[in-house]
Amino acid sequence: MALYASDEDRYIFAADAAPGGSYRCLECSAPVKVRRGRNRIPHFYHLHRSPRCHLYSKSEDHLILQLQIQKALSDTTAQIEKSFFSIHRIADLLWEKEKIAFEIQCSFLDIAEAQRRVVDYGKMGYHDVWLLDDRIFNRRSVRPAEEFLRTQTCYFFSFQRSGFSYFYDQMEIILERKRLKKGPPFKINLSKPRVKPSLEWPPDLPSQIQERTTRADRYFQGDLIHLAIQAAIHPSIACIFERWRKLEIELRQSNRPPGWIAACIERCIARPYLRILDWLIDRVNNE
Ligand SMILES: [Zn+2]
Repeated sequence: MALYASDEDRYIFAADAAPGGSYRCLECSAPVKVRRGRNRIPHFYHLHRSPRCHLYSKSEDHLILQLQIQKALSDTTAQIEKSFFSIHRIADLLWEKEKIAFEIQCSFLDIAEAQRRVVDYGKMGYHDVWLLDDRIFNRRSVRPAEEFLRTQTCYFFSFQRSGFSYFYDQMEIILERKRLKKGPPFKINLSKPRVKPSLEWPPDLPSQIQERTTRADRYFQGDLIHLAIQAAIHPSIACIFERWRKLEIELRQSNRPPGWIAACIERCIARPYLRILDWLIDRVNNE
């Protein structure tokens, strides 16, 4: 499903498309038509199976989120399904004024694809902001792509079909691909991005925040970097971080693997299993 398609040289929004008209998919150029319904948002659908096309596999929830965020940004430079021909990608939502590419993720992806997207948009001068659907992410078991993304500018959302979905960040402790502890959600304001200031960050921050302050260039009002900045003037936040850091150290010590047996299990069983799982997900996503 897609919200935009092409009509010769023009971009056409699904709500403006002529019923029965012939259009082309922006990504794979396959023929698409518009579909409307009482309880559906207007969208383009492929006339034939096109499993390698990312737009083909998008769900209606995905399209609804694109529209919700665009509306919340309330900026004419926020464009849905913006094509980048040189990197063969179509951004879910590109915010030109802030140089941000929003990536809405409603399905699993493999870590190599996540890393490629960050690099590709970085090459084009855009900062990737990841939004992960908490119906499948933010679970106890953490897949490699999610673990990588959580060190980037990356938040979760609770999808709501009507109104506005809830976007949030959270404190968490992930060890050995297990989310052992998570804190309450901190609401994010996606319309308030900021460039990360060059500060001397305290060395005893929880490791999750240390990683984020190292890797992310941007932050949003309400997220962990924003809290870390506020900790300098609000002792109560600094106190929460301190308690979280202690908990992290305790959990690390109590979850320390019991020597060479655990190392063998990790190397011979767990890693090959996760590689096979990644390969299968990649195949399913490309079918
Ligand atoms: Zn397509």
